[in-house]
Amino acid sequence: MPIETVSGPVDDAELGVVLAHEHLSTTSEPVRAQWPHLYDEQREYDLAVEQVRAAMDRGVKTIVDPSCMDLNRNVGLARRVVEETGIQLVMATGIYGAKYTFIPPYFENREPTALVDVFVHDIEQGIQGTDVKAAFLKCAVDEPGISEHVERVLRAVAQASQRTGRPIMAHSHPATRRGLEIMDVFDDEGVDPRRVQIAHTGDTDDLDYIEELLARGPFIGMDRFGFDIVLSHRRRVATVVELCRRGYADRMHLSQDAAATIDWFPPGWTERAVPNWHFTWLFERVLPDLRQGGVTEEQIETMLERNPARWLSS
Ligand SMILES: [Zn+2]
Repeated sequence: MPIETVSGPVDDAELGVVLAHEHLSTTSEPVRAQWPHLYDEQREYDLAVEQVRAAMDRGVKTIVDPSCMDLNRNVGLARRVVEETGIQLVMATGIYGAKYTFIPPYFENREPTALVDVFVHDIEQGIQGTDVKAAFLKCAVDEPGISEHVERVLRAVAQASQRTGRPIMAHSHPATRRGLEIMDVFDDEGVDPRRVQIAHTGDTDDLDYIEELLARGPFIGMDRFGFDIVLSHRRRVATVVELCRRGYADRMHLSQDAAATIDWFPPGWTERAVPNWHFTWLFERVLPDLRQGGVTEEQIETMLERNPARWLSS
């Protein structure tokens, strides 16, 4: 089945090694719109090219970038990086800021279908005036939980998925077991759980929660390797090792949720606080440590190649 990428449709058998969750650039949309002098586009492009090339040197053929509204999804940057590097880049549509329990008045004061329509537009027509099509839908529930507005976004994402047959990635906060509540809404909307990936599940090593979530049928994102201030590297690795041992290798996506540029923190903070948070940490330390723990080459191939292809073509 063809998967939409920035450079056009690619057969799901041609995705190769996939990083299932990385960002070319994550910046605060309203700040950027109002105070553009704070941003350096050339530097953002250079850093994105550098990170993508480093990943490609490690054998990565495809990167899934779940940037959407509020993360400053930028199809222009994506196209330039793809042209320069040849990476197969998969883009999304959706709303992230729902994490903060807020949707813009534009959508707040219209019928809920207004949201569904813009998501479907990105999937069927293209993103930001281009013919680059979104391949999946993105939404987010964090610690504050499913408020009225967040629920509206979740249901719109579910309905757009039903209309277009495209899969969903949902940001979650496992410490508050949000993955289960997200699945409640998707079940209610009749979404096939095999089309759902619950992102950031790897931020916990609570295996009871993870197994309860897996029993509901979604893929899970073990997707923040390197972001070790939330959960240590050792505990992240041990969790994936144990889940592989319990037979769940066919349900996990491995990634880092790194951003070549991120403005959420002051300069120098990421280098100090999360020095391993970049596009190649997976290959430098995570895979060797997983192998050390008994994860097989076949299981690694399943997690890095087959699972993302199955999810994107579901
Ligand atoms: Zn992310």
